[in-house]
Amino acid sequence: MAVRLRPRYSEEYMSDTLILDTSGFPLAFVSWQRAVSLQWQDRAVVIAEDAERILRAPSFEMGLPRVIKLRNHISRKLRLKVPMTRRNIAIRDHSSCQYCGMVLQTADYTIDHVLPRARGGKSVWTNLVLACVRCNKHKSDRTPQEAGLLLTQKPVEPSQFDPRFNFRLHIKVLRPEWSDYKAYIYWNVELEK
Ligand SMILES: [Zn+2]
Repeated sequence: MAVRLRPRYSEEYMSDTLILDTSGFPLAFVSWQRAVSLQWQDRAVVIAEDAERILRAPSFEMGLPRVIKLRNHISRKLRLKVPMTRRNIAIRDHSSCQYCGMVLQTADYTIDHVLPRARGGKSVWTNLVLACVRCNKHKSDRTPQEAGLLLTQKPVEPSQFDPRFNFRLHIKVLRPEWSDYKAYIYWNVELEK
């Protein structure tokens, strides 16, 4: 099975091994199989092993890699994308309803699928916008055009270089081997849907 390095929303729990870039900055979590394969290809070095989970092969024995560091420059594929959370959607949309422009409080955020899910609309940056309850209800399972609404701006995926967004990685449990990188990791939190 090929494992993607780019952590997507639903794949953020694939958290066996933390990958660092060449400067030691946390990039992503990947499966341990992917980590071992990167090491075998000589593309990464193991920084921390799990003392309790031992991988055995005829010619070697090693702890399951928990932290690895890439040897070479980051390929584009490895760059972190801005995590698609309610919070980050609100940041992109300036906390305002993308139909009527009303500025919203956190508790009043609703996320609207521009092309409704019922019509095949996907949960992607370009199809999700912040909306007030009133506009969201009024729009219902219709397109903006059908509902007589206009988007105040075209929803786009934020740039990974935009410092307004939160890049921390999400995992279920913080393992001891990752504690040095705590500042970059969220753990034991519910992912916002
Ligand atoms: Zn509105």
